[in-house]
Amino acid sequence: MLKGVRGLKFRLQEIPREEKEFVHVYGISEVIQALQERDVKEIHPLEPIEARVRLIRSEKQVFSRGLIRGKMETTCSRCLGPFAIPIKLEFQQAFLPRTKALNLEELELSADDLDTSYYSGDTLDLNPIIWDELILEIPFIPLCREDCRGLCPMCGANLNEGECLCSPPPADSRWEALRQLKP
Ligand SMILES: [Zn+2]
Ligand SMILES: [Zn+2]
Repeated sequence: MLKGVRGLKFRLQEIPREEKEFVHVYGISEVIQALQERDVKEIHPLEPIEARVRLIRSEKQVFSRGLIRGKMETTCSRCLGPFAIPIKLEFQQAFLPRTKALNLEELELSADDLDTSYYSGDTLDLNPIIWDELILEIPFIPLCREDCRGLCPMCGANLNEGECLCSPPPADSRWEALRQLKP
């Protein structure tokens, strides 16, 4: 890693004109801090998060391709149990110098269209992109498994662990009819 660089933050001159890979591993406490700063409380890191980013520069334009890997923990929205989400996601992002000529509307429009970020001065900070991508990867309604049966609304028992005593599963009348046909 480059000296004096915290995470994936670069000065323009440090980015080579031939593609080069930079790797940073965010320790668990670093991840926790970044999530806290973004007021994200639903997810927690289970292991360090590794970010590999390939950067290439042409004059003041920078193009990045990245891979983020790790494991996060979140809470199932049905059974409220914690479960792990493996993270393996790729992203691409272009960077252009912020110029005063563009008004804000144009800036936001083109940023949406082209996955383009703008940097000020000569410092490119990729760290916020890593966190944004990571947070986006967590489903809006996380489920520990697709067929999670959730909690019994009566007694609160976790129905994944077995039936509770509140409501025996209703007998299916079609099966009942078949059973009566048996000799
Ligand atoms: Zn669940
Ligand atoms: Zn119950």
